[in-house]
Amino acid sequence: MSYSHIVIGAGHNGLTCAAYLAKSGAKVLVLEARSQPGGAAATEEIAPGYRVSSCAHLLYQLHPRIMLDLALDRHGLEFSAKNITTTVLAGDGAALTMLDGKATGNISEKDAQNWPIFWARMKKIARHLQPMLLMSPPRLAGRDLSQNLDLLKLGWSIRSLGREDMREFLRIAAMNVYDLAADYFDSPLIKVRISADAVLGTTLGPRSPGSVLSLLYKLTGALNGVQGAMALPKGGMGAVSGALLRAGAVRGVDLRLGQRVRRIIVADGKASGVETDTGEIIEAANVISNADIAKTMVSMVGAQHIDAGFQRDVSKIRSKGATAKLNLALSALPNFTGADAQALAGRLLLTESIEQIELAFNPAKYGQWSKHPLLEVVIPSVTDPALAPAGHHVLSAIVQYAPYQVESGWASQREPFQRDVMAHLEHFAPGIGASVVGTDLKTPADLEAQFGLPGGHWHHGELAIDQLLMLRPVAGAARYATPVENLFLCGAGCHPGGGVMGAAGYNAARAVLAKRQAA
Ligand SMILES: Cc1cc2nc3c(=O)[nH]c(=O)nc-3n(C[C@H](O)[C@H](O)[C@H](O)COP(=O)(O)OP(=O)(O)OC[C@H]3O[C@@H](n4cnc5c(N)ncnc54)[C@H](O)[C@@H]3O)c2cc1C
Repeated sequence: MSYSHIVIGAGHNGLTCAAYLAKSGAKVLVLEARSQPGGAAATEEIAPGYRVSSCAHLLYQLHPRIMLDLALDRHGLEFSAKNITTTVLAGDGAALTMLDGKATGNISEKDAQNWPIFWARMKKIARHLQPMLLMSPPRLAGRDLSQNLDLLKLGWSIRSLGREDMREFLRIAAMNVYDLAADYFDSPLIKVRISADAVLGTTLGPRSPGSVLSLLYKLTGALNGVQGAMALPKGGMGAVSGALLRAGAVRGVDLRLGQRVRRIIVADGKASGVETDTGEIIEAANVISNADIAKTMVSMVGAQHIDAGFQRDVSKIRSKGATAKLNLALSALPNFTGADAQALAGRLLLTESIEQIELAFNPAKYGQWSKHPLLEVVIPSVTDPALAPAGHHVLSAIVQYAPYQVESGWASQREPFQRDVMAHLEHFAPGIGASVVGTDLKTPADLEAQFGLPGGHWHHGELAIDQLLMLRPVAGAARYATPVENLFLCGAGCHPGGGVMGAAGYNAARAVLAKRQAA
């Protein structure tokens, strides 16, 4: 069987790219190293009868265009909860629950009144940035018609923010989220909410410059027509990848699991296929890689086929993650101090202040973890009981911060780290430890080893001003095509970045198809 396109990796971006390429009538093969599709957007069994999202656990960025074009609802994507609350718990009983512009709990009257105004403003700015998601970053020199149209659309969108919001956007864009939160609010728990949304998944603290951009990036997402909504896919995050898989399969996409690509075949500067770990050679007109750029260009293509300047740029990408994942199988619903039943069905942010988040970030800079990390917790079995045996539960926690390079190495440090995280969790949910019947901890080193995430990084590379747009992943590959002809990138390391969004996969498919039309 010969293929028009081979996609290396069945992460959600690889699956999105494959489905769009197949939609154009092409024959597509996806080769995935793991035994399961989805990459970091997957569900796994962590103890017999307990299933939970492996890494990503909340859906808020999946692009509406992709949902619609690929009819993901018809391909089985359902939600157990569509627009969940966020509750910040301080651990001493103080709590603040938010749903969109409504905030109730430990918050001053003034801040409660300001919150909807602030949130609407942030959402408005983010909404006007949305056209950027489904466009290739502009070329630095020489433009084509479609690029001019994209830029015009984006320019018009930003311009139509209006004078006041445009001024605010320019003021806050490069700012840190600590100062932004302090500009608008006094109440500690509302500041936690704002800064958590900015720093989760990054190697930034609330006081790091550019952290506001990360908040705006997250807010560009809209789910089921509600901007900023967070949802729990029924069956865990693997349900998203499953729907993408089926959308591709009905269009003829072939998927082979457990097939690691060890080499991309290149001759005279052109890619013509791949070689798998078993030595099988498969030819194709185009190869599109969902793996990160270093793995693709240095390991799979080989240094002999790329120039020294490009290699240097690739080696400088900052992709050391600071996020770990703890999944627990529980014999009972935990009792979080200050949380009511509605809060337990939603998203919990565990920490008492924005200062504590910054303090938790500090040790990560020096190869250590904090004993008091920021935790983002969901208990998806509350709204999706099929994930655990009757009366039992699964808990999914993102642990911010755990540095990729930890002193003495993760092999010896994962146990003490897990003990510290569990002790911290116990502070917020007394007695939880006694109900644990299964534990699955993924340090950044595990995330790299098990999922291929470079440095265990959520975005395959830091989302920072110097690694955005035409500099993402590097200047010579920012429009999905690489310096090797017929070889493209489609993963989170590309514009616009990570999160379960599918935009990089969509944009890459567009770049491949544009090349075909130009030929
Ligand atoms: C702990 C954690 C929590 C997160 N939480 C959230 C969240 O709640 N919400 C959210 O929106 N985002 C979240 N994210 C981010 C999100 O999961 C990722 O950004 C996104 O899944 C990346 O998708 P991708 O398809 O680009 O790449 P990946 O998911 O990394 O997929 C790449 C695929 O390529 C395969 N591959 C690599 N090399 C080869 C090879 N040589 N041959 C064959 N296959 C290969 C890999 O096995 C993998 O399956 C989280 C990330 C982490 C790590």
